[in-house]
Amino acid sequence: MTPSLIERDLGVLWHPCTQMKDHEALPLIPIRGGRGAWLEGLDGHRYLDAISSWWVNLFGHAEPRIGAAIARQARTLEHVLLAGFTHEPAVRLAERLRDITPPGLERVFYADNGSSAVEVALKMSYHYWRNLGHPGKHRFVTLANSYHGETLGALAVGDVALYKATYEPLLMEALTAPSPDGYARAPEEDYRAHALRQAAGMERILARHAHEVAAVIVEPLVQCAGNMRMYHPVYLERLRALCDHYRVHLIADEIAVGFGRTGTLFACEQAGISPDFMCLSKGLTGGFLPLAAVLTTEAVYQAFYDDYERLTAFLHSHSYTGNPLACAAALATLDIFAGEPVIERNRALARAMAEATAPLADHPHVAEVRQTGMILAIEMAKDKAGREPYPWQERRGLRVYRHALERGALLRPLGNVIYFMPPYVITPEEIRWLAGVAAEGIDRATRDRCASPASTPNAP
Ligand SMILES: *Cc1c(COP(=O)(O)O)cnc(C)c1O
Repeated sequence: MTPSLIERDLGVLWHPCTQMKDHEALPLIPIRGGRGAWLEGLDGHRYLDAISSWWVNLFGHAEPRIGAAIARQARTLEHVLLAGFTHEPAVRLAERLRDITPPGLERVFYADNGSSAVEVALKMSYHYWRNLGHPGKHRFVTLANSYHGETLGALAVGDVALYKATYEPLLMEALTAPSPDGYARAPEEDYRAHALRQAAGMERILARHAHEVAAVIVEPLVQCAGNMRMYHPVYLERLRALCDHYRVHLIADEIAVGFGRTGTLFACEQAGISPDFMCLSKGLTGGFLPLAAVLTTEAVYQAFYDDYERLTAFLHSHSYTGNPLACAAALATLDIFAGEPVIERNRALARAMAEATAPLADHPHVAEVRQTGMILAIEMAKDKAGREPYPWQERRGLRVYRHALERGALLRPLGNVIYFMPPYVITPEEIRWLAGVAAEGIDRATRDRCASPASTPNAP
């Protein structure tokens, strides 16, 4: 008998963010295709992709216009190095990113995934201060519960223990400021008051350490991998002012929240701020190809611009920097934003998500239903009032995941948090159906006290 795709896979592949032993009990799901918000399994089973395949997909799977743009580009130029050479898609995309991002971001440096974009921003920031004669500014400030990727530099400025703790001895030491995450607010506080109180914690760190700090790095408005924790935009306003006052760069990691996820094209817009660096990836190509861009100011660019012998250049590169196919996919994605009222349409979808999940707020094991634009998260808790979490070993979220798969939805949780971050082509009917599946799954996952023995936490 010929081995199945699953058998062949388990014989050779090592999957990302996975305890492979889990697949002794949890079957892998082979996918043969996708269309719109739906994925189709080899066995014909369909799954509504409620999480945009790890937050990358914007306009549905196999979106024909993006696919066609890649095919067209592939017939002309698949790749050329971007050092000493250039091409239309790279230039055009940089112009358009400059035009749609917050004011002041004038220069574009390409990388090929989110983590490498973060590495670029960190290195550029440090190097800027060095070029200006301040080599002592070599540290970074991050927020508690933040996530910026998996490469060593990005991991070092993140704060999700599940991914970081093991590698601690390999990592540079970041300064960690309290998170503005509204879930942790005191009972008498609202999101705004809590954010302002936490900004005071950031100020204490900057007041003491600014002389040795190159930049503060944040995920604007939503700490996605940190269980979809959300915060008030006033924090970003305050942080911008603090960074200016203490002469420290602000790096906005919009890798997950960019391109409309939070209800505006970029999350920074909701605070009316421009960062010194903005990292983009994930939705940039509509979910078709890996590509990342780091945008920065003309002031940063000018600090590197000098005679070669002065050795101030940013000698950083990736082989596929500015890949034409990926740039073509990104341009086709931006064409959709330019040609259709995406952000306006999403407002109706966001409302549908709020309405469909509203009843869950009264669930005895739901501590919070929170939403920022097209991201909606449901936090399950053992004790609703005291917000006592379920022990991670119980893997409650995994039970919701399994239930949803049976019903035909891809709802991959983050620990005890079930969330929707769907492609923008989802319909209100699909949202209502999804909310029903989530509610059933949460009921099932929280009804009993059964603790399934498990050796690993529930990774996203
Ligand atoms: C996913 C993510 C990254 C890392 O991007 P990769 O392409 O997975 O390396 C960085 N920052 C944030 C906020 C992310 O969500």
